[in-house]
Amino acid sequence: MNVAIAGSGIAGGYLARLLEQRGISPDVYDGMDHDTHCRCRSCGWGVPGGIEMYLANVGLDFNEYLLESMSSMNFDGLVAKTPLCTLNKPRLIRDLARGTGLKKQNLGPEESEDYDIVVDATGITRAFLPPCRSDLALPTLQHRVAVESHGSECLEAGVYGNRIPGLGYLWIFPVGNNHYHIGIGGIGLVRLDSLLERFYQDSSRRFSFTTLCSCHGSVRVASPYYSTPFYCKKTRKDGTPQVIVGIGESIGTVAPFTGEGIVYSLECAKIFADSWPDYERYTNSVLARFAWMKKERETLDYLLSREGKSGPRLRDRWRFFCNARRSGIGLPMLEAFRRMGTLSQWVESPDQTL
Ligand SMILES: Cc1cc2nc3c(=O)[nH]c(=O)nc-3n(C[C@H](O)[C@H](O)[C@H](O)COP(=O)(O)OP(=O)(O)OC[C@H]3O[C@@H](n4cnc5c(N)ncnc54)[C@H](O)[C@@H]3O)c2cc1C
Repeated sequence: MNVAIAGSGIAGGYLARLLEQRGISPDVYDGMDHDTHCRCRSCGWGVPGGIEMYLANVGLDFNEYLLESMSSMNFDGLVAKTPLCTLNKPRLIRDLARGTGLKKQNLGPEESEDYDIVVDATGITRAFLPPCRSDLALPTLQHRVAVESHGSECLEAGVYGNRIPGLGYLWIFPVGNNHYHIGIGGIGLVRLDSLLERFYQDSSRRFSFTTLCSCHGSVRVASPYYSTPFYCKKTRKDGTPQVIVGIGESIGTVAPFTGEGIVYSLECAKIFADSWPDYERYTNSVLARFAWMKKERETLDYLLSREGKSGPRLRDRWRFFCNARRSGIGLPMLEAFRRMGTLSQWVESPDQTL
């Protein structure tokens, strides 16, 4: 059986390793034609410590990739303990691909005809599967900046909803050597660059910022439920059958409230490898495991709707609290309820796009 994996990001690279362990040698394709300085898709590189076990499964040592701990983070003024850190994602992607015989070109429709199974691990592009049944993407802008403190204070890691009008947030993730990823993501925001500039200006008494690189991106926050189908059957030109099956962000394994997709893409690839080659079992397992993403997506839909203008409902606030708890972030329940600031602010001023 000929298997191709299109995409050697986190999901595709990890799946290739898992399949190799099971005696299946896929051909892996990725043109890696990202117009970013790090030659990777735009990403904050923030992960929970729980990623360690996924890396260990394929013989990789988490400590080799660890950049900075984010054990203490600022959430709109409230400092909370977290299990989060940043990791060297470009290096991880490179190491996952090592030994898989990566072909440094994108898989096109012509070459894909050679394969019985084509795994669509192309992230937001979703190059092979039919469109999601109801897609939703969050536009982003991220800078890598060198930060110099004007005193003894260090720039804190944090996530801020209250600085951003609309359904969005700003993140500050340290990536080592006083470098930070500072980014903004938001639905309905048009001037992401001026929002980042405003943040630099507001902080300019305490810090100087030198922008090292800048990238626009987009993250699929549709949830797996609204990103079906996960697989489809086709007939090739020579009349033989072919299956296209998606993993990772191509099928929406991203937390809709926060845009976290690294660990969930690894988990999705593992579910697929464990169900190989039962596509129905795979679909059901992904939908069950990530059922909470459907609920978060429904909160976003509600807040984007006319009815949502009256503010988050109790269930939306509860989902927000569950999101923090799931990520191991120690936000007390009442604070989490109160700090659903991003969403409430958007509801109060939906047209305030800068
Ligand atoms: C600005 C931003 C910040 C983010 N920050 C975080 C964060 O801090 N933490 C977190 O957990 N998640 C974050 N995410 C989300 C996270 O980056 C993704 O969810 C995750 O990388 C998805 O992995 P993937 O392997 O499914 O897709 P991707 O990482 O997008 O990989 C897809 C690969 O497919 C390749 N490709 C595309 N078309 C083809 C083709 N035809 N043939 C072959 N290859 C192809 C691409 O080159 C790419 O390498 C962020 C996203 C954005 C946009």
